[in-house]
Amino acid sequence: MENVVKTQYYSYCTGNISKGCELCVHGRKLVLFITGLCPRRCFYCPVSEHKFGKDVVYANEWKIKDPDNPVELMEEAKLTGARGAGITGGDPLSNVDRCCEYIKLLKEKFGKEFHIHLYTSLILVNHERLKKLYEAGLDEIRFHPDLDDEKIWENLKLAREFNWDVGVEIPSVPGYQEKTKELIDFIHDKVDFLNLNELELSDTQIGHYKLNELGFMPKDIISYGVKGSATMAIKLLEYAKGKKLRAHFCTAKLKDGVQVKKRIQLRSKNVALKFDKITEDGLLVRGCIYLPELKPGYGKNLDRNKMKEKLKVFYNRLLNNFKEEDILLDEVKIRFITSDKLVKKNTEVIKKLGLVPAIVEEYPTADAFEAEVEYL
Ligand code: SF4
Repeated sequence: MENVVKTQYYSYCTGNISKGCELCVHGRKLVLFITGLCPRRCFYCPVSEHKFGKDVVYANEWKIKDPDNPVELMEEAKLTGARGAGITGGDPLSNVDRCCEYIKLLKEKFGKEFHIHLYTSLILVNHERLKKLYEAGLDEIRFHPDLDDEKIWENLKLAREFNWDVGVEIPSVPGYQEKTKELIDFIHDKVDFLNLNELELSDTQIGHYKLNELGFMPKDIISYGVKGSATMAIKLLEYAKGKKLRAHFCTAKLKDGVQVKKRIQLRSKNVALKFDKITEDGLLVRGCIYLPELKPGYGKNLDRNKMKEKLKVFYNRLLNNFKEEDILLDEVKIRFITSDKLVKKNTEVIKKLGLVPAIVEEYPTADAFEAEVEYL
């Protein structure tokens, strides 16, 4: 393995990593899910059921309400201190005009140096679409070719007509070592870099065929990484090195333990309320007060407007017992937020009001996903 170097981010590389990856490992890239539409059906597709095939937009975990006016995108970029964005999907070229519009908006707002890269399969690539993206200001394009369809690899050459960084990014799929070598033979003198990702099993994987049903196994009990993916990727890096192709292997640990963690830590500093405690990993510890029917995991089918009205009634009751500045009415998750100290000290009072007190540790993301809920 002398040719392959382990980075400080739990990944492996031969040569420098791309500019897009450099910002990503520091948690400075916003993940812009531009559409769930995609002409392909990869058996390892990691996109979840509520996104795949739907023309929805997310800035990190934040769903954009009106894609024609993506105010949440700008806000999310600010809150996470993003210095760039990675446009993903689906296949972003399914809605190339939206990609171009957002690239222009981000560059206008955050400056030309705001680095933007985009992932696309090769199916929808043509000169006209690439030209549009280039003229909008895209800095880096990454292709995700179908390993079983060599004919389409030719499309990749079209990207060389423009002055941007060109890469190929695919998962390292056990059983596909020889095919991936063939791809490396084809691309080594046509692209600037190759990125391999550790293949992961996922709870939400529609995968079009679920990976575990195809016999792929997790490498250990604590990881979603697929057995054999990492070992194969290291061998492929050596092969790429022999072809003088710069290559990077991004592990599952890098994604969750470094990239996402850093982004979370950056965001928590900007969104923490005065009640919150921030953990080392950037999660927020807070006191929450729920309507019984809206405890985390409950009430998905209830009428949100009615629940909001009910929350307001309870707010007035809470204000008979607590100071206004100590209780925040959270209309997004339909609950009250306060300090962990307040809920601990006043558990019985809150329960007598017909509410449910809890100490919650949650992500500082737009979906405020609860990592842990301790009911009192
Ligand atoms: S992995 Fe990407 S290209 Fe393949 S089906 Fe999923 S979204 Fe489409």
